[in-house]
Amino acid sequence: MANPLEELIESASAIAKGMGVTFKEMMSPTVTENYPDEPPKVQERYRGVHVLQRDENGMEKCVACFLCAAACPSNCIYIEAAENTETVRISGGERYAKVYNIDYNRCIFCGYCVEACPTDAITHGHGFEVASFNTSTLVMRKEQMLVPLPHRTSPPAGAMQALEPAGH
Ligand code: SF4
Ligand code: SF4
Repeated sequence: MANPLEELIESASAIAKGMGVTFKEMMSPTVTENYPDEPPKVQERYRGVHVLQRDENGMEKCVACFLCAAACPSNCIYIEAAENTETVRISGGERYAKVYNIDYNRCIFCGYCVEACPTDAITHGHGFEVASFNTSTLVMRKEQMLVPLPHRTSPPAGAMQALEPAGH
């Protein structure tokens, strides 16, 4: 059995060790986010609101293969496919997504759609401000998720049509 002096030294040592950790943390830089006054910092792997990508020619990468919709466990992806034509070419494949909606009332940000996509057309962005009192605003359309066309003097034929409201 330890004598009282040994117990006292042991307790003081434990307290000193604990306070050492406290002081070390006090001196290290703060990690508190000042959101919404400052934009929050998120990790690169953060799964936020989806982004529909374009290829190096400005064409939409989505070829309307429906694999993302098939992989989605929440059944929240709605796609309508259309054929590219000689005069109107939207994607690099045979088809493109005329309508591409994601219902964020149901999306659980699992990333399965991103993994299923064979053309890397759908990715997770870092957007997270999707809360709303009106659930109908949480159905996002292709036009809201598609990356803007890069600045160029002559846009690819038909590419601008993809940015026009779908009218649905
Ligand atoms: S992240 Fe998951 S739930 Fe959301 S659309 Fe993709 S597959 Fe569906
Ligand atoms: S986003 Fe990818 S997986 Fe989904 S329909 Fe388009 S090409 Fe296919």
